Amino acid sequence: MTLNHGFKGGEINLPGLNVPVKLPNNVLFRYDGKVKSLSKNIARTELLLHGMISGSSNLINKIADNAIISIASRTIEQRNAHFNTSSSYLFSHNINQFTKGYAIAQKNDLTPQMSVFADGHESGHLLEKINKKEILQKILKELGINMDALIYQEEDFADISGMYALVKNRTDMPIFRTRLEQRKKFADVFGKTLPQF
Ligand SMILES: [Zn+2]
Repeated sequence: MTLNHGFKGGEINLPGLNVPVKLPNNVLFRYDGKVKSLSKNIARTELLLHGMISGSSNLINKIADNAIISIASRTIEQRNAHFNTSSSYLFSHNINQFTKGYAIAQKNDLTPQMSVFADGHESGHLLEKINKKEILQKILKELGINMDALIYQEEDFADISGMYALVKNRTDMPIFRTRLEQRKKFADVFGKTLPQF
């Protein structure tokens, strides 16, 4: 583990979109990829940042760490009920008083299609958080996609970013179970049809 627990600044490559973006000063990023439990992954990072677990690979320390992580993750689940149904997240950790560390993770049991969408979706959230939505808009324009993505926010903007990740990675549309109306509309813009479930 580095001083910043694997978070890095400067230029990063956005997951799913595979496009470079320069982070603002005092913003760091870490990509965690597939994890077993979203809430435990957040808890582990928070506890490490606050020096409340050791993070050491020594067995006894690991057992102690895991016990604390389990308790903290239950609190995180209680405070954020959506984690029980979420397939991925962008989480803002406070690295210190001045520096934010954004982390992206997804559950390890997603279909290959949903996995690509999740990366693109969370990268869209990150672009919005760091005020760089125009990066996606520029890509869409270059692709000849007739859409003003800048008028969309939050879940809508993130879904457009997820749709772009699917197109970019030549991945089929996943079977969505939520936000069907909006997602059908955005898929249309990319010339795609959503499979039924
Ligand atoms: Zn989202």
